Amino acid sequence: MTTPASVPAPAPLQDFAGLTALVTGGASGIGAATAALLTARGARVAVLDRDPAGAPEGTVPVAADVTDDAAVRAAVEQAVAELGGLHVLVSNAGIGAIGTVEDNADQEWARVLDVNVLGMVRTARAALPHLRAAAADRPGCASITHTCSIAATAGLPQRALYSASKGAVLSLTLAMAADHVREGVRVNCVNPGTADTPWIGRLLDQAEDPAAERAALDARQPMGRLVTADEVAAAIAYLASPAAAGVTGTALAVDGGMQGLRLRPA
Ligand code: NAD
Repeated sequence: MTTPASVPAPAPLQDFAGLTALVTGGASGIGAATAALLTARGARVAVLDRDPAGAPEGTVPVAADVTDDAAVRAAVEQAVAELGGLHVLVSNAGIGAIGTVEDNADQEWARVLDVNVLGMVRTARAALPHLRAAAADRPGCASITHTCSIAATAGLPQRALYSASKGAVLSLTLAMAADHVREGVRVNCVNPGTADTPWIGRLLDQAEDPAAERAALDARQPMGRLVTADEVAAAIAYLASPAAAGVTGTALAVDGGMQGLRLRPA
């Protein structure tokens, strides 16, 4: 006997049968891979996206921009009504920004922080009453997982604004984990390295020679390749699953070893 009677026995790994989930930014890249995976694992899934056309088959698409508080509230209520509840929030919608502090004007800072930070705050605010109800219904099953980035802690060049936005997401994750732990709502984040998504495709397309740039990008990774959206989705699915009932306030890197490995001697 290793589990006290008051603690639910660990659920079968990543089984989402009977659970409901909302994935923001779920119509592309990491969010779409996550929405598809949770659906395949048995969850009923809604996708909140400003452009939900790419929401995976079998999910409920809900159109909203995470910069619009009223629209986010309405979208969360619509998702809850259609799904019959909300156990899992994956707050993933985000945008990039390139440059040093001298390159991005105040308006650009406001625009990116509005999406990447306040977007997650708005979504959490709208979802928390439903997540608390789900926690009472199914202990260990209510969770929020943020898509953060290794940029939060890595000190990347040319990413001042983006890194600051993800640093805020990391701090928000830890503070929310503390605030909601006794309510049964777990809060974690994943930190992707460079993930092979349409976002990276758009960046490469701006290069003079996208194929050469792609090869150089792959070569800079410890594994010799980017991580895939499915690999990041698998980590999100773990953190969001009942199998992670004892995990909160954690940042899980899915970066192909980018942060942890030192492959060349100094
Ligand atoms: P993506 O561009 O492929 O997908 C992002 C999705 O978010 C799109 O469907 C888009 O419509 C939606 N979205 C963007 N702004 C929105 C808004 N204001 N309201 C509602 N929806 C909005 O990008 P991705 O690479 O899958 O990135 C997803 C998340 O992963 C982001 O938070 C990003 O910061 C993070 N991330 C990505 C990488 C990477 O290398 N791709 C690395 C680290 C972190």
